[in-house]
Amino acid sequence: MDYFITVIFFIFGSVLGSFLNVVAYRFPRGESVVFPPSHCPKCGERIKSLDNIPILSYLLLHGRCRGCGGKISLRYPLIELITGLLWAAAYSHFGLTLQLALGLFFITVLIVLSAIDYDTKTIPNKILLPSIAISLLFMLPYLLSIETIPVITGARATEAVIGSLAGGGFLYVVAILAPLIFKKEAMGGGDIKLAAFAGLYLGGYVMLALFIGFFMGAIAGIALIAKDKSRARDMIPFGPFISAGAILTVFFGPQLWSEYLSIAGLS
Ligand SMILES: [Zn+2]
Repeated sequence: MDYFITVIFFIFGSVLGSFLNVVAYRFPRGESVVFPPSHCPKCGERIKSLDNIPILSYLLLHGRCRGCGGKISLRYPLIELITGLLWAAAYSHFGLTLQLALGLFFITVLIVLSAIDYDTKTIPNKILLPSIAISLLFMLPYLLSIETIPVITGARATEAVIGSLAGGGFLYVVAILAPLIFKKEAMGGGDIKLAAFAGLYLGGYVMLALFIGFFMGAIAGIALIAKDKSRARDMIPFGPFISAGAILTVFFGPQLWSEYLSIAGLS
């Protein structure tokens, strides 16, 4: 039964991932995310629902549009797959709990913001700020009481606020210091707000998420420069790395942290 529900979560996640693709493509262009129905960006032909099945259609069509034969970007099935896998993973991690609902919301927002940041190097306020407002609204009753807030890492009410201020504050300091040290802008206002959003869910673990994000971002930066020296001055969008760090922290944060402490001889 449990496997069955996990599969349902995967299917639901991948269908949602298909919608996130539409949002990530149209939102920065100022287009409606609902109308018109999905169409090929190359030939404009409307995509039939049979050709719009997450992941499967891409495989069946060998990654090409049925109308014009134009290549379909691999990122579409990739985002569908990632969303599906993370939805299934969240279910098996949290079970049918309040944390699951929070975790799914958190993960889904991070995926769509990452895709947009990757394309446009900006994190849209119009998605991020309402997401922060919705999260606060949900957490408000817990903030006012002394009850444990159902944030995903099981933090207490005050930790959500502290995590949010710490995450956002830390990146704010980085944003000020980085141009002085590296002579280039490393962090935008969107990254700061994204860290504050992540802090609401992760509490103090947001620092771990940022550390993982920095680490992966540095590796990606080095790989990019190794491949093509001329790109050394390019700005790498940091949102996807913050998001990846945050998602890893959702699943492994407390465990990673306690292992770190025991390796460091602190527990
Ligand atoms: Zn086409």
